[in-house]
Amino acid sequence: MNQRIRPPLPPEWPFPPARDVAGRTFGDLTALRYRGADVWLWKCRCGGHIIAALDTVEGGETRDCGCREQRRVWRSRPDSRALRGGEVFGQLTTERYAGDGLWICRCECGRETTVSAGRLRLGQARSCGRCHDTSGD
Ligand SMILES: [Zn+2]
Ligand SMILES: [Zn+2]
Repeated sequence: MNQRIRPPLPPEWPFPPARDVAGRTFGDLTALRYRGADVWLWKCRCGGHIIAALDTVEGGETRDCGCREQRRVWRSRPDSRALRGGEVFGQLTTERYAGDGLWICRCECGRETTVSAGRLRLGQARSCGRCHDTSGD
């Protein structure tokens, strides 16, 4: 799926980090941006973001944005759909369960899009990703 959602990022921290790990990867997390006080904004392999202190990531306490735990919980309850129809996440409203943790959602722009419950829950999917794109179709 080609998601093109760009959540607003917090402003830059004006002071340089003690240790610059920008672009380095620990587990599923890649350091994106320094946030101050040894805290970084990280991008998870799943596409999510998390803000965490460098030492918790380096020490292995924080390995992902939380998606692994979410997946583990959902796998342990395979019959759980995690969400109900009609729940609203940003511009998306869940319409029907597509199986395998995926929900078919209706975006406010009218498009249908299939999104995993995890991305919805974690706030990573808030629109179909195409409704703000006026350059394409
Ligand atoms: Zn993740
Ligand atoms: Zn849309």
